[in-house]
Amino acid sequence: MKQLTKTDFILYKECDKNVWIKWHKPEEYNKFEISEFEQSLAIVGNEVEELARTMSIFRGGYLIDKRSHGAQELTKKLIAEHTPVIFQAVFGTDKYLAATDALVWNAAANAYDLYEIKMSSALGDDVADSIGDTEDVSGKPEKVDKKKELQYEYDLAFQVNVAKHCGVTFNKKYLLRPDKNYIRVGKIDPDKLFALTDKTEKVSDDFQSITLSEMEGAYVYLSEEKMPVGNCKCYYKGRSAHCTSFSISNLDVPKYSVHDLNRIGSSKKYLKELLDDKILKIDEVPEDERIIPKEAKEGEKPKKPRKLNQVIAYKTKKPIIDLEAIKKELDHLSFPLYFLDYETYPSAIPLFDGYHPYQNIVFQYSLNILRSKDAKLEHEECLILDGDPAERLVESLRKHIGDTGKIISWSKKFENSRNLELAHLVPSGANFLKDVVRRTYDLMDIVENQYYIHHDFKGSSSIKKVQPVLAPKYSYKELAVGNGTAAIEAYRQIFKGELIGAAVEEKKQQMLKYCQYDTEVMYEIWKFFTDLVK
Ligand code: SF4
Repeated sequence: MKQLTKTDFILYKECDKNVWIKWHKPEEYNKFEISEFEQSLAIVGNEVEELARTMSIFRGGYLIDKRSHGAQELTKKLIAEHTPVIFQAVFGTDKYLAATDALVWNAAANAYDLYEIKMSSALGDDVADSIGDTEDVSGKPEKVDKKKELQYEYDLAFQVNVAKHCGVTFNKKYLLRPDKNYIRVGKIDPDKLFALTDKTEKVSDDFQSITLSEMEGAYVYLSEEKMPVGNCKCYYKGRSAHCTSFSISNLDVPKYSVHDLNRIGSSKKYLKELLDDKILKIDEVPEDERIIPKEAKEGEKPKKPRKLNQVIAYKTKKPIIDLEAIKKELDHLSFPLYFLDYETYPSAIPLFDGYHPYQNIVFQYSLNILRSKDAKLEHEECLILDGDPAERLVESLRKHIGDTGKIISWSKKFENSRNLELAHLVPSGANFLKDVVRRTYDLMDIVENQYYIHHDFKGSSSIKKVQPVLAPKYSYKELAVGNGTAAIEAYRQIFKGELIGAAVEEKKQQMLKYCQYDTEVMYEIWKFFTDLVK
């Protein structure tokens, strides 16, 4: 009979049905290929764990490198001998299986202390966040992610419970993770890089009991042979909350559905009403008062009927265009125009001096320059794959970007966050970079503010949805490196020396082509809007 692992238990807590599909319909579950980015996350996770093992508290540790029954026997033996440090000790019962990252013998307590090593940083930010475009550049302290902290506590409690079943109790329960406040200077010092959090109080006896009953519930649910009936829990959530298994449990939901309505994630009551009324398709959404914003009070800016516009555009299959607003946006863009895009690598372990864990390393940019309306589009680029690119990249950028004109990006928060970080890393370029931030215009605003709505945007302002409509001659699908995560993985492979000889040059060309695509696509979209308002 299958054993419940802590990974599946944590997944189960997020979504029971998804794990049921993983257990009983693996071919369906695995139908969605793991992205290169997910693969690289696993590699980064291993790198973090290997580095943590070199900390002084773990000196001379014994690594059990198998998960088989033999590993459990070896664990028993090592524990009976009070082996000072054990990595990957394995505990199993007929229902559960847990591997612990590190156990350290505590002679004073006559028991082992448990250490769980996590790749996410101690401030609740993680690699996925850091490649997104939602970062706070205000310099405010980051908040602790309570949901994630609780998840880690369940993770520890799972291990404690399984070990207890095997007759082993732990003294302290710790989390170890890269400390975002650590700044690399010279060789990495693992003792300083990792922050220790004592979770012993949180993983109390009561918490362990609660976890145990949830583990038992999970085991019963997952052992059920029949697929749980009905739609899954995310049926009442917006598209961004859905996992790849959504379509398996919700056969009645079309690919483009009311789950894609603009900002529907924050209109849960309305989404529930639609679904309970069996309204699934966008063109079936009634144009009633629920999607017409209330009249603005005095002094308030009137709200846009965002959902209504999306529905009308889809029903009529005609774009909704606010020519005046687009013209106003474009009129303030003074030449030369610089279409700029960065590629970055968020390294869990800082690769260079001055960086903290997960800080994005800007290793590449593409720049298309339009000096006047009728000028020929120029192209510049920079790709640095050896050593810290910051100084050389800023120097190159300074050569390419003049003192006047607008810099255009798509979702400028990301590029500007990088500019401010670069200003910190390269003080001699700080004034220039701050000026770049001031002069950057976000082309996405035209779509985001609904000055141009196309039914094929499907309620999104992501460039992935906008490009096929407004710059159709480009196709990312035909590129070998065709998205940001593939570029991250390409950088990692070259930096780690996993590619050699001609393969490096080939990959470089693919990276350059991809980044250039991004800025050319931006130019095409700008041109589309400019021609529209001529
Ligand atoms: S979409 Fe369905 S299967 Fe996926 S996480 Fe949500 S509830 Fe679970």
